[in-house]
Amino acid sequence: MIEINHLVKNYGSKFAVDDVSFKVGEGEIVGFLGPNGAGKSTTMNIITGYLSSTSGEAKVGGIDILENPDEAKKLIGFLPEQPPLYIDMTVQEYLNFVYDIKSCKLNREKHLEEIRKVTKIDDVKNRLIRNLSKGYRQRVGIAQALVGNPPVIIFDEPTVGLDPKQIIEIRNLIRSLGKNHTVILSTHILSEVQSVCDRIIIINEGKIIADEKTENITQAVDQNRRYSVKVSGPQREVLAALNALPGVTSVELTGERELDSYVYRLETERGVDVRKPLFYAMAEKNWPILGLESVGMNLEEVFVRITERAGN
Ligand code: ADP
Ligand code: MG
Repeated sequence: MIEINHLVKNYGSKFAVDDVSFKVGEGEIVGFLGPNGAGKSTTMNIITGYLSSTSGEAKVGGIDILENPDEAKKLIGFLPEQPPLYIDMTVQEYLNFVYDIKSCKLNREKHLEEIRKVTKIDDVKNRLIRNLSKGYRQRVGIAQALVGNPPVIIFDEPTVGLDPKQIIEIRNLIRSLGKNHTVILSTHILSEVQSVCDRIIIINEGKIIADEKTENITQAVDQNRRYSVKVSGPQREVLAALNALPGVTSVELTGERELDSYVYRLETERGVDVRKPLFYAMAEKNWPILGLESVGMNLEEVFVRITERAGN
């Protein structure tokens, strides 16, 4: 459905996108993961025809976006990083405006109502966009992308700036769109793509460093389990006891404390579940565990892990 070949975009000597190639099949939900400045928005803006490339090829539904931008754009619904909302329009006026711009042929009333329902903005349809919260504005941005029912959906950082409840709602919406659309979404948050996407493409400094099924990336990343554990007990002795647990490779004090409790960060070997031994070891000493949570990796650590693995 989407085919990118040797895409390059440079600004002077700076390569924002540096020889990027990938394909996305019909019905796939693909996550485009990378830190700020990796080249995600540039790539998405080229695929959607908002930006020209320096060289390379981008095709959507077999149509070259450079040769035939109008035809290709009809196949794509795009939520840019900064959605082009007209804040002095009501939601309803704005969606009508988008409907006209896209020369949509579907039944206006029925189609727009359906979109408002799916994106849960029906209750604010007569409000001015300027008076909407960030979460609602984002949903209006998603709604405009859905006008015309395009088979391909491209969302650039759809959950940035939203609160946890809104993030869950938008993720669920994206998942449900994925049932009958081809979707690419970008993010700099690993857990976001893990929870929504079938496949993850990791991009860094304009280059793709991994393109794999989500489960493979998750496996690579979860090799070492890490926990943050809060124990009420004498610091040195607790530290020694944690270090002595089977499979534990490192223990560090995080510096956080509450009365006589300290928070430790521990890391274990692959395939070791330290939680039960940890419980019994602390119980035996009468050191209550006040908190235990697993700690995810940040993107830099994921990169290191993925590149290490590729080098093996
Ligand atoms: P991301 O979306 O992954 O955060 P971008 O695609 O926005 O990354 O940017 C990739 C790189 O290209 C960054 O280093 C950015 O500073 C640079 N860049 C983007 N747009 C321009 C521009 N118009 N002029 C110069 N450099 C740019
Ligand atoms: Mg961006």
